Amino acid sequence: MYSKLCPDCKKKSYSSNVKEKWICPYCGNDLSNVNPSVDSAKVKKTTPSANRKNKP
Ligand SMILES: [Zn+2]
Repeated sequence: MYSKLCPDCKKKSYSSNVKEKWICPYCGNDLSNVNPSVDSAKVKKTTPSANRKNKP
C-alpha cells in the first residue's frame, strides 16, 4: 500500500498500484510525479539484539 500527499489540497490518497496514473481523488490533481511513500503501518523495524554480545 502506497500513499501520496497531494501538494494542492494537502490530503493523503492511497493506492496499491504506484505505476498507474495517480489522480487525487479530492481535487483531481495529477500526482503521478509525486514521490510515493510506503504505508508505515505495515512496516515493522526490528532491531538486532546480537550487538549486546559484543562485550568482552
Ligand atoms: Zn488534491
